[in-house]
This record gives sequence, structure tokens and C-alpha cells, in this order.
Amino acid sequence: MTPDLGPDLGRRDLLLAAAAATVGAPLAAQTRRAPAGGGGGRKLGYAIVGLGNYGLNVIIPCFADCEHSRLVAVVSGDPAKAARVAAEHKLGPNAVYSYADYDRIRDNPDIDIVYVCLPNSMHAEYTIRAFRAGKHVLCEKPMAVSVRECEAMIAAGRAANRRLMIGYRCHFEPFNLEARRIVRAGEVGRVRYVRSEHGFVMRDPSVWRLKRALSGGGSLMDIGIYALQAARYMTGEEPVSVSAVERTDRSDPRFREVEDQIAWDMAFPSGAIAGCHSMYSANQNRVFLAGSEGRVELEPATRYDGNRMWTGKDGREKPVAPPSGPGRNQFAGQLDHMARCALSGAEPIVSGEEGLRDMRIIEAIYRSAREGRTVKLA
Ligand code: NAD
Repeated sequence: MTPDLGPDLGRRDLLLAAAAATVGAPLAAQTRRAPAGGGGGRKLGYAIVGLGNYGLNVIIPCFADCEHSRLVAVVSGDPAKAARVAAEHKLGPNAVYSYADYDRIRDNPDIDIVYVCLPNSMHAEYTIRAFRAGKHVLCEKPMAVSVRECEAMIAAGRAANRRLMIGYRCHFEPFNLEARRIVRAGEVGRVRYVRSEHGFVMRDPSVWRLKRALSGGGSLMDIGIYALQAARYMTGEEPVSVSAVERTDRSDPRFREVEDQIAWDMAFPSGAIAGCHSMYSANQNRVFLAGSEGRVELEPATRYDGNRMWTGKDGREKPVAPPSGPGRNQFAGQLDHMARCALSGAEPIVSGEEGLRDMRIIEAIYRSAREGRTVKLA
């Protein structure tokens, strides 16, 4: 991987301040082009920003399974890689941008949606610049590295009258959708408890995920956000308080700047409790929900593929069959959902507000761990 330009922090601060100042402002002049309007059945065009592992190896191949979305451009700091990808996917002449000339996407009417697949601390800047270019944005999780950045991104989207979606792919993953349906239908009775653990072994100490300036935090920001999301979408409730404990071996060279393990409990208005755990030092991927009449378990729960699920009642486990047919590709589902929202003007089911809610809770989790006390959420 060739790292591209690092984030320009001074520039980022200016962008955030300017975006925040646009809250409540009339529709911005930069929305002169209106790619969101009636698509006439065409597939909407995506520009992928960041040809790293996720953007290049996971997302780009999934356009093949999309009904409403197609790849039309790439933005990268590595010209040779970008040219190779453009050739492989037979992209047009205006298909390759560097980070320096990114703002020129404004002049490319084929680009309707920008998909930000960059390190976390770059999400806000590249989202706000895309809105200024009149594009819709699908931004990877975590939405950004602070509540302040999330608010600036939402404000920029509103000012440009463009949609913002966060890459919470599990809202399109068939087992997670089925688990939610079962819980909402009351099949497990009253929800009492959710347990969610997410982790993987971070082996390379040099990656951006372990540099606070680029990641914004450790396992919680990266993989723990799946545990947080699962607790929220399985219960369908918002937590009223969090209580967290961090356990990190700071002498381990991987964890000088960010946390390894963090465990947190969340209390919900119904009385349900979630116990969540994230880590960078063990592989773990599980969601378990216990209700008064039964339970649902997913393990692995939120992987790209190979997830498995059981329901349980009266001491008996029943496996849920893997889904088949269209709709089983969570990545294509998310790309097409964003395209439909861009066309119709509807708010995505995982909007910027959803990312902001998580970031508020993440900040509360870190505060609770730091201060050694339960933190109430408004
Ligand atoms: P990666 O390291 O593989 O790729 C990062 C990309 O950003 C590369 O193209 C790199 O060149 C570029 N980049 C630009 N400036 C950089 C800098 N200063 N330092 C390092 N890289 C720089 O990372 P990834 O795994 O593709 O993750 C990208 C984003 O996608 C992250 O926000 C991550 O949380 C998210 N992600 C989401 C999922 C999911 O399942 N939804 C999975 C993996 C990653």
C-alpha cells in the first residue's frame, strides 16, 4: 500500500468550522448541478475515495451485484494503482483523481455519489468536500473521530441538499435483519440482555489504525462499533447510560497510542442491559440476545460472509438457514440503498444522524473509562 497524502489538520479545522457555520443557511450555491434528480432508470455513478483494502478489495467487486449503482471514478494518491483499477473496470477518461485534484469531481456529472473509504480522521474532510462539489456521500464507519466532526458533516450535507449515509453494512446483512425481525415480532419475549463481543488480532504495529491522529481511537472506533451498533439495533432502543473499563498493556508497542480492550455496559429505558467488549488482541465476533421467552445468537455475527445464527427456546437450539437469492450481498444492498435515496431524496436508513448517535456514545464510553464512573446520556 502506498500511503497517500496525510490529513492536513489545519485545513480540516477550517473546513469543519465553515461547514458548521452553514447550519440553517439557505441552499448553497454549490448545488448548482442536480444529479440527485430523476435518474431515468440509469445506474447512479460512484467515485471510490481511497483504494485501500476495503474500497478496492471489498467494495469495488460488489458493483457487479448492484441494480442501481456503478463504479465511474476512483480517487487515490497512487496514480499507478488508480490507472490499473480504471483500466480493469473500463472507466471513462475522467475517471481518475488524486487527493490534490479531488475537488474537480464537481465537474464530472457521471459522479453522483462519493464513497469515502479513507482512514477515520479523513472522513469529515473528504465528505464535506464532496458535498461542496454537489455530490451525495456514503462514508465509512466510524463516521468521523468526534461529535464535532459528525455535526459538521451533517450540516454540510444539509447545506448542499445532498444525502449522507454511513457504511453500516450490517443493516443490509440478512442474518442481522432476521434477528431484528424476530426480536421486533416479540418471538423472544421482553428483551432483557444483549451481549456483543467484537475483536481481531492487530499484528502490524505500523498501521494507521494504531495512530491516534488517523484513527481517533483503538479497537472501539474500529471493530467495537459493531458491538455498539448491534446492541442498539437489536434492542431498538437508545442507551441512557454507559459504564466502561479499558484494559490495555501500554508496554505493547502496538498500543502506545490507542486502546486494546475496552468493555462497556449500557442501560436501556426498557430495563434491558447490553454488555459489550472490543479488542485488538483476540478474534471474536458474536451477538447474543436473551429475552424473557427465548434468545437469538449470531456467531460469527457481522463478518463479510459465513455468518451463522440460532434461535433458542426451552433449552433447544434451532439453526437459521443461510439466506439465498438476491439481497444476500450486504455490500450491494448498501450501495443500492444509497443510490435509491439519492434518486428519491429519501433519508438513508443509516444516515449521518445514526453515525452521530454512535459517536456521542463512543465519546461517553471513553469518558466513562477515563473517569471511572457511569456516564449518563441525554
Ligand atoms: P486501508 O489501510 O487498507 O486503506 C486506507 C486507504 O487510505 C489507502 O488507499 C491509503 O493509501 C489511503 N490513505 C490516504 N491517506 C492516508 C494516510 N495518511 N495514512 C494511511 N492511509 C492513507 O484501510 P481500510 O481497511 O480500507 O479502511 C478504510 C476505511 O474503511 C476505515 O474508515 C475503516 O474503518 C473502514 N472499513 C470498514 C469496513 C466495513 O466492514 N464497513 C471494513 C474495513 C474498513
